[in-house]
Amino acid sequence: MQKTSKRLQRHTTGGDGAELTSTSVSGSRGESRSRITRDHFSDMPMEERTYRCTIPLIRPSKLTTRRRGGVGKELSEGWCLNFAVGCTHGCPFCYVDSIHKRFGASRYGETVRRRWGEYFMVPENLDAAIEKTPWSRWKGKEVLMSSTHDPYLPQLADKTRLILERALSAGVRLCIQTRSCLVLDDLDLLAEHKDLVRLQVSIATLNASLARKIEPRVPPPRRRLDVLRKAKAEGLEVGVIVAPVFPPTRLNSNGWKDLKALIGSLAEINPARIYGESLHARGQNLGLVEDALGERLIFPEGFDSAAEHVFYDQLTKYGLKGRWWPERG
Ligand code: SF4
Repeated sequence: MQKTSKRLQRHTTGGDGAELTSTSVSGSRGESRSRITRDHFSDMPMEERTYRCTIPLIRPSKLTTRRRGGVGKELSEGWCLNFAVGCTHGCPFCYVDSIHKRFGASRYGETVRRRWGEYFMVPENLDAAIEKTPWSRWKGKEVLMSSTHDPYLPQLADKTRLILERALSAGVRLCIQTRSCLVLDDLDLLAEHKDLVRLQVSIATLNASLARKIEPRVPPPRRRLDVLRKAKAEGLEVGVIVAPVFPPTRLNSNGWKDLKALIGSLAEINPARIYGESLHARGQNLGLVEDALGERLIFPEGFDSAAEHVFYDQLTKYGLKGRWWPERG
């Protein structure tokens, strides 16, 4: 088992496929890892403060089925595990910023009014919260990790490992949701507890040029497909969230072709479930996307329904299971 202190130094590559760092190190499985530090986010005027999180770390979540009183997303049994405010991946389409801007200022202060991707806070009492959370209270229950940030941010991966060790040894079931390759560093632990884990990777597009703009700080889509392949080879249940599906853009004028190619690539991996969702307006996100793309977004009439149709058509074609999440559905 790798020591968590070493995990702080092993990180990933940038969304453009180029190393973000000048130093590469080898991971436990001989894969090239990049060593990046906060300096590598120096193009991003980041404000880092801290806050005190609530104990226990596991909180109720609406990201569950309607039967359980949720919004119809099968991502947990009504529980989530968040341990940061903000996400250094800073995907411009992200919905989380709108939540922090609506509800977060009273708790986290004016920091959350900064541009998405330019604020990030880790709780000052996180170690104590991990220690004091009575993990066995959620034994056998599925908890989403995480709903308001990626758990495999370079700045969080060591804490994520600690949480995994506590939660899994107590029998908590986890739905791990990420766009990062750093989860590969924990495959040993996840494989030991594969009956308790499903690993879900989000991928918006196979178009590397579009991905570089809309997911600027996460690994390219094909590397995320590799994460799924490796996790599945270790016996883990893997799933995918194909989101957000974009309307046509200059970089991706034939979005349906891209969506079909992505689901075709996923079919070779055969994930247990594939969820899909198109791009929706939340807070300031469409403006951030337009800034990133350098063009106005134009949503064709009936875009969400058309995307849903293509999605299910492809799932049927390949015999895959999954569900489209319609707008406010
Ligand atoms: S990785 Fe997820 S939580 Fe983080 S900015 Fe991107 S979409 Fe939002």
